[in-house]
Amino acid sequence: MRHCPVRSSCLRQTLAFGRREEVKSLELLGAMLALALIGAAVALGQLARRHRFGGGRGAHHAAFEQSPHGMLVVDAGSLKIVDANPALLRSLGYSLRELRKMPLAEIFSDNAGPPEALLAQLRQDAARLLIETGQCCRSGRFLHVELSGYRVEVGRRILYTLTTRDITVRRRVEAQQLEKQQHLDHLAHHDQLTGLPNRLFLAAHLPGAIDEAKRGNSMLAVLFLDLDRFKHINDSRGHETGDKLLKTVAQRIRATTRTEDIVVRMGGDEFIVVLKTVATPEQINETASRITEALAEPVVIDGRPLVTTASIGVSLFPRDGATMGELLRQSDTAMYQAKDRGRNNFQLFSPVMERKLKERMAIESSLRAAFQGRQLDVHYQPIVEIESHRVLALETLLRWRHPALGSVPPERFVAVAEETGLIVPIGEFVLERAIEDTARWQAAGAAAVPISVNISAVQLQRSDLPATITRLTHKHGVSPRMLLLELTESAVFEQREGRYGDSTRDAIARLRELGARIAIDDFGTGYSSLSYLKRWRVDYLKIDRGFVRDLVTDMSDLAIVEAIIAMARHLNIEVVAEGIEGWQQLEKLRQLGCSYAQGYLLARPAPFDQCWRYLTGQPLDLTSQPPSPESLEATGT
Ligand code: C2E
Ligand code: MG
Ligand code: MG
Repeated sequence: MRHCPVRSSCLRQTLAFGRREEVKSLELLGAMLALALIGAAVALGQLARRHRFGGGRGAHHAAFEQSPHGMLVVDAGSLKIVDANPALLRSLGYSLRELRKMPLAEIFSDNAGPPEALLAQLRQDAARLLIETGQCCRSGRFLHVELSGYRVEVGRRILYTLTTRDITVRRRVEAQQLEKQQHLDHLAHHDQLTGLPNRLFLAAHLPGAIDEAKRGNSMLAVLFLDLDRFKHINDSRGHETGDKLLKTVAQRIRATTRTEDIVVRMGGDEFIVVLKTVATPEQINETASRITEALAEPVVIDGRPLVTTASIGVSLFPRDGATMGELLRQSDTAMYQAKDRGRNNFQLFSPVMERKLKERMAIESSLRAAFQGRQLDVHYQPIVEIESHRVLALETLLRWRHPALGSVPPERFVAVAEETGLIVPIGEFVLERAIEDTARWQAAGAAAVPISVNISAVQLQRSDLPATITRLTHKHGVSPRMLLLELTESAVFEQREGRYGDSTRDAIARLRELGARIAIDDFGTGYSSLSYLKRWRVDYLKIDRGFVRDLVTDMSDLAIVEAIIAMARHLNIEVVAEGIEGWQQLEKLRQLGCSYAQGYLLARPAPFDQCWRYLTGQPLDLTSQPPSPESLEATGT
């Protein structure tokens, strides 16, 4: 190989630089980079000659000149371009003369502005340089480029030899991928139907909001919102209407909250609102009231107005919990309390609620075991004809003997059984026990006294009660005519519209066709819509004991009872007064024309083997059992 003094001096410089700085990385860069470097070094040599020795081009310059990548040499002191190869000039559309006059930042800058990072690296006198930036061409074309190169010392001058690589395609692919990813992230963190953020979003943002409140020493509120009777709307007016309603509800909640607050659809008809930086508890009241008011406006769907309400439970950071889990749990508990208080209201969490909820959960978990473990039993209480003191029927009342809690009253567990659906098998158990016991009494020669059974609305909706009754009465050889079925007024009324209403009405009609009679229990405590009494044939009304208790002293109770009796007479329905504890009450009811009564005064609920005295067909001897309601209450009978 012919000796070339320029090349060898350049190589010497390059090798010196390599030794001085990064011998190892030079090795790693491989042949390609070395070639580029040699090209750059050759260019430097040429430059050095041009500037220091008066210029002139040699064969060694070919690599620099012919490289398909744009290459340039920058003066580290002035930050000016001193040389550029044809590939770069072609790509930029400027001549070398023009380039030399232009500031570096005019050529290489990204969308965000001048290449501060590039200039900073140059100013810092970095040995190696690698940066991604933009390249602005004369035509206005913008390319994404990678600039890489080295610092070299030529005499006392410090230069940078840089190679540009067009990464526009890679950037475009990356941007598309990013966009796709962001779209997927959005989908994953948002609810399709309402467009609101979802529970994943909440999980990602609520902890941060709590931390922020902690740092700022401020309060934060979590509002748990559940629509009232949404299932009913969905079932009666269809899922499409339900979906439209949810969308409107989502918009209204969003519109009543501040932009910084988080509004999330948790799923179904549940929403969460996180109020950040709550200054005073009144602020929560205001927001909750605003939401309630906004929802109260009827929503017109397909030309038909629909009214929806919500129950809202509120928990407060730091008072009710310090973590997302705690705050959500407590707001959920408070929401259930709002439901219990008649829906369409909001409740702030309190520790008492938690105790009640725990008790309720304990009941829920042990109820199933109680049912399977034969802790459930029934007692019977006579319904007596006031004039004759003869027994009209025996009412079956469920009893739970809990091994640890003692006697648990039905009021505490029937609602739980309804919520869990366990009321269906439990109700069937009660029904079968009543029919079975009737068969045993009949076999023993008792008078034909009908048996009355309380039926839950859930039982009526979720099971084929007429078929069950046919099966059980047939099995035990008892006529369905021996049955009186007690349905609570509110349960029947609440379901009267839509699908359930029809099926409830059909079920009642079928039960009456079988020969069973129907009583409306606790009459007066529900919505007291009297029109359904006319439409749905019922046989008895049982006036709730709440009206009977103060009948003798309270004029309005007297007026109500009087009105019920008069109305029932016109509709040809018999009346039973519940909860008679005193002779004066009984006498008053007799005067008002009430036919039947039930209460501790007449007979208390008793287990199967103590009921024979009610089944003789003879009038009850009321003098033999003086009433002692308090002691009876205390024993749970
Ligand atoms: P209900 O059907 O109105 O039953 C009458 C309730 O009043 C019974 O309470 C009875 O023990 C009580 N009672 C009767 N006479 C008097 C009185 O003179 N004074 C007072 N203070 N109370 C009296 P119990 O047995 O605790 O039942 C409560 C409610 O639980 C029932 O009210 C009924 O709604 C429900 N329930 C009871 N057994 C069943 C059942 O087998 N299935 C369903 N679904 N519900 C049941
Ligand atoms: Mg009853
Ligand atoms: Mg009742």
